[in-house]
Amino acid sequence: APDAPAPVIRQLDEGAINRIAAGEVVERPASAVKELVENAIDAGARRIEVAYADGGKTLIRVTDDGCGIAPDDLPLAMSRHATSKIDGSDLLDIHTFGFRGEALPSLGAVGRLTITSRVKGQDAAELRVAGGKTDPVRPAALTAGTVVELRDLFFATPARLKFMRTDRAEAAAITAIIKRLAMAEPSIGFTLRDVTGGGEGRVTFRADPENGELFEALHGRLANILGREFGENALRIDTEREGLRMTGYAALPTYSRGSSVAQFLFVNGRPVEDKLLFGALRAAYFDFLSRDRHPAAALFIDCDPQLVDVNVHPAKSQVRFRDPGLARGLIVSGLRHALAEAGHRASTTVAG
Ligand code: ADP
Ligand code: MG
Repeated sequence: APDAPAPVIRQLDEGAINRIAAGEVVERPASAVKELVENAIDAGARRIEVAYADGGKTLIRVTDDGCGIAPDDLPLAMSRHATSKIDGSDLLDIHTFGFRGEALPSLGAVGRLTITSRVKGQDAAELRVAGGKTDPVRPAALTAGTVVELRDLFFATPARLKFMRTDRAEAAAITAIIKRLAMAEPSIGFTLRDVTGGGEGRVTFRADPENGELFEALHGRLANILGREFGENALRIDTEREGLRMTGYAALPTYSRGSSVAQFLFVNGRPVEDKLLFGALRAAYFDFLSRDRHPAAALFIDCDPQLVDVNVHPAKSQVRFRDPGLARGLIVSGLRHALAEAGHRASTTVAG
């Protein structure tokens, strides 16, 4: 009402700001896993182990053998908008998964977070943050790399806690995230362990030999994740157009699925859920599949980071190409070409 007194404008405290940001960055346990594993990849890890309990609700622990965080930097890593990955001068020049400096403070605001880390040649140290309250840095024991342990996710935001799905559903989402990141990084070894109730369920994606050929490593990893049958029916894709490159594997139309569960798209190594790109994939197979069938593919679009904006949403699963038509054209024509050629090969084999 016009006669009512104007409301008081308040500056929110850091804790409230972090909890609000956490709402966007950390939707569910799987998004926490995604942020932590992406940090491990950014840190140059060669092996990453993820353990979780109760669908990730009570425990998520990510262990890596990456570069580590120096003891003096631990409080900074935990503060908002602090990142070692960009200097902020060019938001289109991004070569890492992270750059917003929001994941660790967000997780520390909504759960109980402990980071233990060691930089080569320095002492290991540990920092705990729970519900936004930070303890002083303490000495710790660790040979190398970083261990981030997140307990009781959303204990500090009961409303969000209520939106958690069953342990089973959350565990499935965690597995899906790990599979996606493992597809993008075939040279990193991944282990996923369900340690619920002291139990032990384990999925391992072994690292392919470091010096292995790129396509070989990718093919091996995809067969590992999507199944041998995908591997046997997948066409190698490697095509380029005006600075945009598409690599990966797309399955023959005969290996189509009843839904879009086996479609994985990556832009500059980042898993994306992008309508434009998925639409292009569908369009490419249009003449090869009936309406109720869906193609299976894992495709990697790579380009100069200047040609694509990844800073569209905090979860970074949306991208904006400078020239969307070019991206679409690359996918549609690149795949059609590969499919036509495979069809041609098949028919000449039969004829001959
Ligand atoms: P961002 O990844 O956007 O930089 P985060 O909040 O996820 O923001 O992490 C903050 C900083 O903490 C990173 O920039 C990095 O320097 C450091 N860091 C986080 N996780 C790790 C890790 N596993 N290994 C080494 N450094 C890490
Ligand atoms: Mg990060």
